[in-house]
Amino acid sequence: MIARPLLIALVLALGMQDDTTSDAAAAFEKAEARARAGRYDDARNEYKRIVSKYPGTPEAVEAELRSRPSAFLGWADVVRNGPSKNRIDVVLMGDGYELNHMGSFDKLSEDIPPLFARQSTFREYYSYFNFIRAALVSADSGVDGFGREYDTALNGHTLNTFAGHVGIDRSLVLNVMSRIPDTDGLAIVFVKNGVLGTGGGGIATIGGREVKTIIHEFGHSFGGLSDEYETQQSHGQGAARDGINVAATDDPKSVPWAHWIAAKHPGVGVVEGALGRVKGAWRPTSTGCVMSSTEGFCVVCQEALVLRIYSVVDPIESVTPAPQAQRVREPYTIGDDPFEIVVNVMQPATHSLEVTWWILPEARIPESGGASSRYGDTGTAGPRDRRRREKLVEITDKPASNSQNNTSGVHKLVLKKNELEPGRYRIICRVKDTTKLRGEKWPWVLKDDLGLLESERGWWVEVAKAP
Ligand SMILES: [Zn+2]
Repeated sequence: MIARPLLIALVLALGMQDDTTSDAAAAFEKAEARARAGRYDDARNEYKRIVSKYPGTPEAVEAELRSRPSAFLGWADVVRNGPSKNRIDVVLMGDGYELNHMGSFDKLSEDIPPLFARQSTFREYYSYFNFIRAALVSADSGVDGFGREYDTALNGHTLNTFAGHVGIDRSLVLNVMSRIPDTDGLAIVFVKNGVLGTGGGGIATIGGREVKTIIHEFGHSFGGLSDEYETQQSHGQGAARDGINVAATDDPKSVPWAHWIAAKHPGVGVVEGALGRVKGAWRPTSTGCVMSSTEGFCVVCQEALVLRIYSVVDPIESVTPAPQAQRVREPYTIGDDPFEIVVNVMQPATHSLEVTWWILPEARIPESGGASSRYGDTGTAGPRDRRRREKLVEITDKPASNSQNNTSGVHKLVLKKNELEPGRYRIICRVKDTTKLRGEKWPWVLKDDLGLLESERGWWVEVAKAP
């Protein structure tokens, strides 16, 4: 048993600790708000103050890291189109920007989203992206190489290529992303005094302000696309291998884009010259692609990018009321008032997603549909990477309605007691991006093996027997 005075002292100490903790947290929030507003000097001073004033707190530990000569100071939205949980968050970072030059990186970061808004493929899905700026201060502005070492936030350095491409430390970029909530492992890094770009594994690195290469490098880093040019650009060459948009064979039946050839899409074939080599590697078109040197992606790359976008973004943004997995057998009751289900869907720039509703009597379950409803109680948990989800099964029953001409992005189903027989029903709403744009003969996606273009929510409802 604890003696009373000691207990009081303990309570006081705990109380004090609570105050210290919340003061440290508030101070930390203040420092981050300053960084968000571009007041980097003030933010640094506040981090330094936290280190001396609140020693031993987690805030002081993090503030110490942020007080170093080269450091992450915080982050800010550049363009926010929606909640990070259903958007592709691209983090923009600068390396070699000293404290008094960070404002020029902020300006540069504002120039990046418009490049995506103008590019024909990304323009259609622009609202699926957020752009976030990481505030990174570097003690020096140089790029390591040729015997010189500089202290920069991401350790920009010259790669061992004949053109001297710039590189950064991947682990440092990942570390910055881990300090920003809910990112998707995607960064575009600008190395102030570097040249040329590289891209892969989620990170595109751009030398200086060579913004014209951004979409190309993002094609590598985000889309996993390969170079379609045939001139040697010094990336180093191993054996040619099949990729999404390059092949090590000229057999039209076995190239990765064989489905476009089989569908007889004009302009798609097997063209020699890719991966920085004139012979021994093949690309899909002779008309060009961002992955060679033109402004638009070829249809093969475009298809891959749309599928990649939907590996992150669910076509269904939100629904009310809460959806239910198929195994949750607690129905919503339809009483005297109409029961309304609202589904908000994603909105590409020029075409609308297709929304289909089914009202299935309980006896038709589980023969019909419901596959995606297995994740958690709402059917919406499950892996963040939608490629790891299961494809929806086909529902053979006739849908209750199908709306393709609703361009508002808000879809409703109203159920009334007197319009349904008493009993239990499974309501299913499926939303699909047909990738068919007005005036275009071909959809952007021909083959969707993983069912990424489609999503589903389900609800149980019950109509009581009349008394
Ligand atoms: Zn291409």
